[in-house]
Amino acid sequence: MPELPEVETVMRGLRARLQGRVIVRAEVHRADLRWKLPHGLAARLTGARVEGFRRRGKYILMRLEGGVSVLLHLGMSGRIVIGRAQPNVTPPHEHLTLATDDGWRAGFVDPRRFGSVDLIATAREDSHKLLAGLGPEPLDDGFTAAVLSAALIGRSTPIKAALLDQRTVAGLGNIYVCEALFRARVGPRRLAHSVAGARAARLVPAIKATLAEAIAAGGSSLRDYVQPDGELGYFQHAWKVYGHEGEPCERCPGPPACAGIRRIVQSSRSTFYCPRTQR
Ligand SMILES: [Zn+2]
Repeated sequence: MPELPEVETVMRGLRARLQGRVIVRAEVHRADLRWKLPHGLAARLTGARVEGFRRRGKYILMRLEGGVSVLLHLGMSGRIVIGRAQPNVTPPHEHLTLATDDGWRAGFVDPRRFGSVDLIATAREDSHKLLAGLGPEPLDDGFTAAVLSAALIGRSTPIKAALLDQRTVAGLGNIYVCEALFRARVGPRRLAHSVAGARAARLVPAIKATLAEAIAAGGSSLRDYVQPDGELGYFQHAWKVYGHEGEPCERCPGPPACAGIRRIVQSSRSTFYCPRTQR
């Protein structure tokens, strides 16, 4: 499932290809995604100039001239495929296709159809029902240890679950939460309200650094998707704990001195962590 860095990378790829262009053709091939696509979407997009892009949490906002924004969520497995325009060719599971005045196309491909597309007035983006309840952007300067601690007061869920809750902080998913907790040396089962003081002071920069490194890795993949048939947003990245059950972490000697990275299940999702150094 795409998390904040993947979505950021998709947004940057779309910006590189679409910003300033006019959408000369928009086609909806299938309207029943997670929710029904807005009525008249293709007509609203056709002829519109793309003014810019913004990301909020795991959502992409494409701003069109005339004060309308397209809200895009990739869902579980959605992706954007960029290529040279090929009239009359629609790849499988491509539900929305945009063709630009400079001969390129961007397609939204989503086999599982958990993704969503909506229209909203640009001036009211943040009041959209999917955005209104989101917590702070983790990479904003306003997301500080004090802000995180305040959001965790009185919460007796594990810190892992609290960070996955988009109301605490926007855009984090399972992988990056595991990685950030490892980096901050905070145990994933620790109760959220007890993450304050020094732990919160370690956790916030750990979240920012984890995301920033992944975004940098995504950025270096940009060169791949300015080529025809490039796919945005998924890139190779080296996780420190995620998927490394039983292996030594970078801080530990590994077996036999310690048992290495452990996997547990929390909220029916796998958590990977170092039981020796995360407390
Ligand atoms: Zn370790």
